[in-house]
Amino acid sequence: MTTIAQAVSCLDGYDPDALHVDKAGEAIRACLAPVAGSERVQVREALGRVLAREIVPQINVPGHDNSAMDGFAIRSADLKNEKITLRQIGTAFAGKPFSGKVSTGECVRIMTGAVMPQGTDTVVVQEVCSVENEHLSIPPGQKTGQNVRAAGEDLKAGVPVLKAGQLLRAAEIGLIASIGIGQVEVMRRLRVAFFSTGDELASIGTPLKEGQVYDSNRYTLHGMLVRLGVEIIDMGVVRDDPALLEAAFRKAAAEADAIITTGGVSVGEADFVKQLMAQLGDVLFWKIAMRPGRPMAFGKIGKAYLFGLPGNPVAVMVTFYQFVRDALLFLGGRTDCFDVPLLKAESATAIRKVPGRTEYQRGIVYRDGAVWKARITGQQGSGVLRSMSEANCFIVLEHERGSVQAGEPVQVQLFEGLA
Ligand code: AMP
Ligand code: MG
Repeated sequence: MTTIAQAVSCLDGYDPDALHVDKAGEAIRACLAPVAGSERVQVREALGRVLAREIVPQINVPGHDNSAMDGFAIRSADLKNEKITLRQIGTAFAGKPFSGKVSTGECVRIMTGAVMPQGTDTVVVQEVCSVENEHLSIPPGQKTGQNVRAAGEDLKAGVPVLKAGQLLRAAEIGLIASIGIGQVEVMRRLRVAFFSTGDELASIGTPLKEGQVYDSNRYTLHGMLVRLGVEIIDMGVVRDDPALLEAAFRKAAAEADAIITTGGVSVGEADFVKQLMAQLGDVLFWKIAMRPGRPMAFGKIGKAYLFGLPGNPVAVMVTFYQFVRDALLFLGGRTDCFDVPLLKAESATAIRKVPGRTEYQRGIVYRDGAVWKARITGQQGSGVLRSMSEANCFIVLEHERGSVQAGEPVQVQLFEGLA
């Protein structure tokens, strides 16, 4: 079996002590194998899940040629270069088709969504027509086939429409419903166990002793994991005690597909977290060329993937979004593109930066007239969680880049999308 170290050692430019963010992402990807297993759920419950088997419609959508407008269904063969007059022989409603056949010189009043009557192939919108008694006058200039939606123009029977590995969003749920399917096969949810480490951590509900901080990481992580749609195993705070840590790692590895810990992976950290990770699993300790979030552990304990994140609250969020999110989505079976796009904005202010590391500054992207601009939220310390709360994006300053002047373009990664 290939070890984690073997899997990453063949990557060009892999340097665990000054790891480029792109390399860290590549190294993680090189080690992951998606989980197996699926379940059948009702179509509504499939929202946010990953499709496990491709979907092939058994029917055409729409099932028949039908009208895209309210107007008159006619035979295009009756059209001339001049005004024509046709006799209206009936009406076709959506859901109540006209049952007769339309012959030369005849037409049928038709509503949007109504099936095209036999013999007709074109719809003339009612606004351009004039009706007198049963006789309809149509001006010249109509095109054959206009205002008609062809059977199967949305979905064709037998032609696959959704692929395994695709995220099911509102559009896909509606699309599945449109072909009359009530249940779908989705990937089982990924199980993710997480705990916080650190002797300075107090749990909510206990008074803070001197030098303690409340454990916020577990709450942030919980929020980010819920949004990813994984199954959550919250293991609480684990003291810096080898027996407790070992028990926690073993339990997590037995129950979960992935383990996320925070704290205890810094350089020179005098605790047992790193020691136990190394002892119980196949784990690499990285110094990533990024800010915030430099130290990180990655590997496996038993069958579970381990992400040992730094302790600082902002570093936790940045490393989660830049590495763990991608990894968990991939492990959960996603095969469609789930990169968060980098968009361009104009930096409203100067930003200090040294080349040689990628920075994820917390920013606010806003519109100034026709231009999208970005500015950083105040203090950027990796312990200042407020900087995340006030932000709506990361301003991603590339590895090689030095300081940014006001007015220069910067890349931003938005926190929220349309859905
Ligand atoms: P560490 O990476 O363990 O050295 O932790 C770095 C900093 O993050 C320290 O100031 C810790 O107090 C803080 N920290 C660690 N874990 C947490 C947590 N779960 N919640 C809030 N702050 C934390
Ligand atoms: Mg610590």
